[in-house]
Amino acid sequence: MNIILLGPPGAGKGTQARRLVEERDMIQLSTGDMLREAKDSGTEMGEKVAKVMAAGQLVTDEIVIGLIEEKLQGDNAGGFIFDGFPRTLPQADALGELLTKYNNTLDVVVEMQVDDEALVNRITGRFTCGGCGEVYHDDTKRPAKEGVCDVCGKSDMKRRADDNADALRTRLMEYYKKTSPLIGYYYAKGDLKSINGLGEIEDVAALIKTALN
Ligand code: ADP
Ligand code: ADP
Ligand code: ZN
Repeated sequence: MNIILLGPPGAGKGTQARRLVEERDMIQLSTGDMLREAKDSGTEMGEKVAKVMAAGQLVTDEIVIGLIEEKLQGDNAGGFIFDGFPRTLPQADALGELLTKYNNTLDVVVEMQVDDEALVNRITGRFTCGGCGEVYHDDTKRPAKEGVCDVCGKSDMKRRADDNADALRTRLMEYYKKTSPLIGYYYAKGDLKSINGLGEIEDVAALIKTALN
């Protein structure tokens, strides 16, 4: 089963994707993670996109479509979870074409609805384990031991450069201008399931489970 998690920055896409990886052996394809990896490993492409990402703008369709195509050629185990991709209509069209090219299909698009006020709170409180990528929050998801990852035990918590109020405003604007039209696009295609993403992590996980069954 291949699915898209669609929603604004901070909606909880990464958090829920990691659960699905654990529970269903699915593969998380997060273009944000891929771009940050490229940036950290100092590739030419990574350097090119670093400024764009820090400002909260979208990087070019060409770059992210290229990243996704590479992954679609690999193993797909329990299916792909597209997390943070597609983010524009051309990306959505390209995904459809690539899935066909590699003999795959899209099953469900889960739209996670979270209101703007809650997003600001989620983004400004977010931190991530540098060892395994587990996502935490200052208020809603603290590790059992301060500064130590519950999952891998490392003490390497990181905050993202673009998780500040300024960049978030740009990211939200990008979302409403360029990504939110995808909700109508997938509704018209018949693939859309919208869920309330405001509840606790467990509750949202249960809603996603129902949407997938
Ligand atoms: P996205 O990938 O959509 O940007 P994340 O999964 O990184 O979102 O979540 C953003 C922040 O909100 C993180 O700090 C995460 O721990 C927290 N979070 C995720 N889901 C919930 C939830 N249902 N309730 C409260 N906080 C949440
Ligand atoms: P969030 O967790 O807030 O939704 P991501 O980690 O998905 O953010 O993305 C971080 C940044 O990476 C975006 O603000 C954008 O600059 C870039 N990015 C990620 N995915 C895409 C994409 N599909 N198209 C264009 N830019 C992207
Ligand atoms: Zn960890």
